[in-house]
Amino acid sequence: MVEVKTLVSNPVLVIGAGVAGLTAATQLADFGIRTVLVDRLPIVGGNAMDLYKAFPTDDCSYCFEGSRLRPGIRKCFYRSAILDQPNIDLKVNTEVTEISGSPGKFQAKLSVGPQYIDSKKCIMCGLCIECSNAFCLPSPQCQPQAVIYDPEMSDEGAKKAEEECPTKAINLGAQPSEETIQVSDIVIATGYHEMKPVSIDEYGYGKIPNVVTQLELAQILDPNGKSGGALVRPSDGGQVKRVMMVQCVGSRDENYYPFCSKICCVYALKHANIITLERDGTQVTVVYMDIRTYDRHERYYRVARDAGVRFVRGRVSRLEACADGTLDIIAYDSLLDKYLKFNVDLFVLSSALEPPKGSAELIESLSLHPASGFVGPADLTSENAVVAADHVYVCGAATGPAEIPESVTQARAVVSMILQSRK
Ligand SMILES: Cc1cc2nc3c(=O)[nH]c(=O)nc-3n(C[C@H](O)[C@H](O)[C@H](O)COP(=O)(O)OP(=O)(O)OC[C@H]3O[C@@H](n4cnc5c(N)ncnc54)[C@H](O)[C@@H]3O)c2cc1C
Ligand code: SF4
Ligand code: SF4
Repeated sequence: MVEVKTLVSNPVLVIGAGVAGLTAATQLADFGIRTVLVDRLPIVGGNAMDLYKAFPTDDCSYCFEGSRLRPGIRKCFYRSAILDQPNIDLKVNTEVTEISGSPGKFQAKLSVGPQYIDSKKCIMCGLCIECSNAFCLPSPQCQPQAVIYDPEMSDEGAKKAEEECPTKAINLGAQPSEETIQVSDIVIATGYHEMKPVSIDEYGYGKIPNVVTQLELAQILDPNGKSGGALVRPSDGGQVKRVMMVQCVGSRDENYYPFCSKICCVYALKHANIITLERDGTQVTVVYMDIRTYDRHERYYRVARDAGVRFVRGRVSRLEACADGTLDIIAYDSLLDKYLKFNVDLFVLSSALEPPKGSAELIESLSLHPASGFVGPADLTSENAVVAADHVYVCGAATGPAEIPESVTQARAVVSMILQSRK
């Protein structure tokens, strides 16, 4: 049964609780502005929660920083007071289904998923995880600090967990609900989705074992991941000694996305350097069209060359799985005008960063300007790239592929514009 609740007030609605949305919401709240922060996932942090080490500082990505020019602004999700900040109403498992009204007086209909776990009550004792596979802790530093429950994995142990939870935090019978809120401004911080290149046949993603994307590689390298940070083959846990990365998968390709995803050269090099410098005796080869290390990130390319990462300018033309779990690869080297043969344990795709599900609907419902499927500025000639329409703002990777410091800086620009509009 769907419960309908109407809440009338005048806060700012922030859609997406990645680094951009979190920054906007926490800063607005700190300035005394009520904020409703929604995310369709059960925890906040967005894609940054899955990056392991993050450029430009190579710190753990659970922490994020704004700009190197402004020190002392690091915020750690673990320490963030997002749940205790009275001006933030955080709604996880929630999506905006309809927006109506007029600028300054929008009505947003929210679809709130079942709240199976009361995060304020959960003490993370782990008893439910022992009882049933339907419960898990998504990450040691997740926010809210609580386990999550997947009804699709439910088993007999789930009922036992509900009965035995020491704080009665579990409600397996929880139902979805709907709320309509009135908000003055909308901040779109919906970020990106890493394309799963199943339809690009030549790379065998989803069909051939040991072909992964860069985000999946980050999870293998993460000490909190399944392998405890050991570089192993997903198929059999065998040690990885040779890695090949291929750039521009689905990006700069008229069949998929014509745009350059901007940051994939930098994070591919970040991963190549981590593997070469921290995993003894592992050889990385990067097959590229152009290496685009913009701005200050050129140093990742220099470090990679010095560390012994091999670069092949060209394209991968054939890939075959071998019986021992390795992959035979033929790559055309356009500088040598030669086909080269490789045998690797892991093949990593630098896949396009695409708009997340629901972006087109959001753009249409607010009559915004699309920019390659992401949210474009209201006025291309204006300096205010974060203004998407009257009382509608956009920040972070919702504008197109963006790194964390850039996303934080844009979120701050949004906060400053909202504050100015209320003077
Ligand atoms: C492999 C890889 C490595 C990277 N490494 C680095 C690095 O080292 N350093 C760096 O600076 N950057 C790195 N990045 C980029 C980094 O991930 C982004 O800069 C950052 O995540 C952008 O934050 P965001 O908040 O804009 O978007 P996201 O992190 O994408 O967050 C968006 C949030 O919005 C939610 N959402 C989306 N649509 C809706 C909707 N309709 N309703 C409700 N919620 C919604 C999502 O669930 C998500 O939580 C890397 C990216 C990749 C793919
Ligand atoms: S048993 Fe209850 S308190 Fe313990 S981790 Fe599970 S939900 Fe949280
Ligand atoms: S950033 Fe590099 S890998 Fe990514 S699309 Fe652009 S050129 Fe290709």
